[in-house]
Amino acid sequence: MRFFSYKNRPFHLGPYPLERLKRSETQPHFDDVPAMNAAVPGGAGEETLADPLQLFVGMLDVIRNGPVAAKRSIIPDSPEERARHMKAAGMFFDATMAGICRLPAQALLERSLRNPVIDDLARRAENIETKTFASGIDAIMADVRDSARARLGSVADHSHAIVYLVEHPREPRADEPGGGWLAGTTEQRSALRVAEVAVVLANYLRILGYPARAHTMTSTDVHLGKLALAAGLVEKRGSSGGVELVNPYVGTRYSLAAVTTTCEMAVDKPLAARGLADRWRSHGPAWWVGKGFYKSALNRTPYAGRDFAKGALPFEKLKSVDEPTTFIDEPRVPRVPKRADMFARALFGDMGKGMQAAAKGGHYVLKSPIGYCARRALGAFMLLQNGEKAPHVAASAKDPQKNAHDVKAALYFLGCDAVGISRCPDYAYYSHDANGNPITPYHNNAISTIIDQGHETMEGSSGDDWIAVAQSMRAYLRSQILGGVVAEQIRRLGYSARVHSVVDGEVLQPPLLLLSGLGEVSRIGDVILNPLLGPRLKSGVVTTDMPLVHDKPIDFGLQAFCGACNKCARECPSGSIPAGPKKMFNGYEIWKSDAEKCTRYRVTNAAGAMCGRCMKTCPWNLEGLFVEAPFRWVAMHMPRAARFLAWLDDRLGNGRINPVKKWWWDVELGADGSYTPASQVNTREINPNLVLRSEDQTLAAYTADLTPPPYPFPFPLDREKGIAAYRSLLDPADYRARLAEGRT
Ligand code: SF4
Repeated sequence: MRFFSYKNRPFHLGPYPLERLKRSETQPHFDDVPAMNAAVPGGAGEETLADPLQLFVGMLDVIRNGPVAAKRSIIPDSPEERARHMKAAGMFFDATMAGICRLPAQALLERSLRNPVIDDLARRAENIETKTFASGIDAIMADVRDSARARLGSVADHSHAIVYLVEHPREPRADEPGGGWLAGTTEQRSALRVAEVAVVLANYLRILGYPARAHTMTSTDVHLGKLALAAGLVEKRGSSGGVELVNPYVGTRYSLAAVTTTCEMAVDKPLAARGLADRWRSHGPAWWVGKGFYKSALNRTPYAGRDFAKGALPFEKLKSVDEPTTFIDEPRVPRVPKRADMFARALFGDMGKGMQAAAKGGHYVLKSPIGYCARRALGAFMLLQNGEKAPHVAASAKDPQKNAHDVKAALYFLGCDAVGISRCPDYAYYSHDANGNPITPYHNNAISTIIDQGHETMEGSSGDDWIAVAQSMRAYLRSQILGGVVAEQIRRLGYSARVHSVVDGEVLQPPLLLLSGLGEVSRIGDVILNPLLGPRLKSGVVTTDMPLVHDKPIDFGLQAFCGACNKCARECPSGSIPAGPKKMFNGYEIWKSDAEKCTRYRVTNAAGAMCGRCMKTCPWNLEGLFVEAPFRWVAMHMPRAARFLAWLDDRLGNGRINPVKKWWWDVELGADGSYTPASQVNTREINPNLVLRSEDQTLAAYTADLTPPPYPFPFPLDREKGIAAYRSLLDPADYRARLAEGRT
């Protein structure tokens, strides 16, 4: 909980007040800096996450270099703006700090470090079988093989380095629930997280036409500590016999990664020695309470006062219930093929040639380079979503309660924002995979994860401008990587486990989120809203046969709240969210949104890339301040106050764009593959005076009887039938009455 808002703080400055540190005009000496060692213990056996972490950072190492776009994109000339942008991009992907320096010759390593698992990954990429609608995955696997085998040359021709730092959470305790898996892996955990930042952003610069390479704690051509020193992220402490590189706010508890590039940008000055007055400025009262920035002396160490297994937020205080607050007619939920997904329908031409062209090759992602830059990693990590399990179950992995603690502690330690465990009912599985093959449900348990899409970036956005797709891609990649580490660990302990990601998944995630207590059904439709994180989230799932204790669904009054609030429906640019009541759709009680309209808008949005405006404008999209606690309390305990709270939310201007937080470049894709300044940008504001009535809406619902066959052939979508189907959806009370009478 924080007391002061960061609403006036530009995003590139980051959570720590680095700008308060005194700077030096002279460059540091590197002679006494200790040699760079790789953070790759590995070989630790199955009892900790060490080996899975090594494998996953290894995949990032495989793709740390790559082809540069043939034509350079048009980006701002200003070196200062470029520096701000690349630092903010780092914060977006969750770096703790960023600094920029010229690439000093003394930082070039004589012998590059190379992660030893890279060769194993090249071998794995030989025989991968993919079942996905995502385009170009076979090419991505070839890319993994080729990249893993490539011998990289020097980066001496690169002029600049952007250095990213990720702080460690507190050290896990051996006696805390789930502490065993984490022992001795803190350095690797942060090395993975910071590698993700650098690898994705090196790809971003290459997409824009600038040579760039990422350097991680496990595979690097440069001395990361020397770069951090030159970029003003760390200072030397100690004598010549034992020099340490220390950050003034996080000490030595951090991991580093860097992007070297030829892209010209403004550099930071090294840190200077600080006198008393300087210390008062950097570590005085403003730092103690966090006045105007995210981090402070009070919240500096993540999880300082909590077990990892509980999560960072007080989820244990939420009211648990035996059944979800919305009815699921489990025996009658029809399983549908993956082919029924609206993005697949667009791709196969069901929605017309225009939509097919816009969906082909993932164009709706490609059109935004800051979103597209994550896609190469998403494709590469498909290789690690599934795998062979160890032949025997480890003795340490037979207790369901201990297993649940291990899984949750690991996912929170790695950086998930919320985790829930539930059964994985058969109806949660698609009926057929992307190749049209029937799916027989295979795992009985599901581990669901939530990644926050980021409050600050959402504040700077309209929700449907050029950053929207990047918010999704970042969260999809994060859940794929973190879920992947845990699935790998489960397999090493002798159980089967599979990650279900946006590029390759075989389960529908919303029912699993409901069953695992991660939220309730909201008016937005498929978005499950979490009371402590709001609707601003993306989910991921790992299914497994590992025995696990389940969480219970939660009830925080959202059904009454959304029943009285319709801000998301009012603000939806495509009119896809119903202003009316919930209906029964395919066995679920939900506010049924018009998935066709929503998909059409997201795929063809000409003034942005995709859309998340419903999440942006919802009153539950909060900063996490102490002053917001009363809102949350009233919303959860007095849901009848929803109309008033939504009105108040409008009056406070929530849901509007905060220009201080806008950091990205509005660029669009040209025919030659380069990006140029966008000709249109959505900058819409909220419409408090608009009255949306359900009787004025025409919505379609594609019920199970209207879904296409499971095969990848065109099956034109019939909107008239969809509209008729929507009109015939039953009210939940009527549906249950019919059930009771045996009429459904
Ligand atoms: Fe529910 Fe209102 Fe949020 Fe929509 S905007 S999800 S109706 S609380």
